[in-house]
Amino acid sequence: METPCPVCGHVNHENGTSCANCHVDLYDSLMEIVATRSLSILHTNPLKTVQTQLLENAQPIIIYFDHDDVPMVVDRGQSFVIGRQDDRAKVDVDIDLSTLGALEKGVSRSHLILDTAIQPPHVTDLDSYNYSYINGQQLQPQRSYPLASGDELRLGHLTMRVYYK
Ligand SMILES: [Zn+2]
Repeated sequence: METPCPVCGHVNHENGTSCANCHVDLYDSLMEIVATRSLSILHTNPLKTVQTQLLENAQPIIIYFDHDDVPMVVDRGQSFVIGRQDDRAKVDVDIDLSTLGALEKGVSRSHLILDTAIQPPHVTDLDSYNYSYINGQQLQPQRSYPLASGDELRLGHLTMRVYYK
């Protein structure tokens, strides 16, 4: 996927934590956008809390979605179910991707767990219908995988890039 550099505009195709053109730190510059645009921090329902002391003062995780100029900010210290909210199915997700075309892009209702309480953050596919991928590699369901900052995460056909410190 493409991550446009907020500073120089260069479109970064490669995984990595800095802009290939101006070498600015992408986490810092994306966080700058969040701050300057006064976006609301994502409100989430904590599923469980693990080792919160460990990352008490950690900076939030940034999730940048393909073709979306508004990064999502996720707090450290919790596990989040990512998917799409479906009230009829009585499934509660913590991070609802419905507004990002999740249904059309094959995201399951409960697709993946993002555990931000550990360093590095880990993801676990929840037996999703269209699978999860890190940098194009399909994840085994119900297995925990570490995420590197700058990795591309794909849920079905919905791609995002994850940055953290
Ligand atoms: Zn740049």
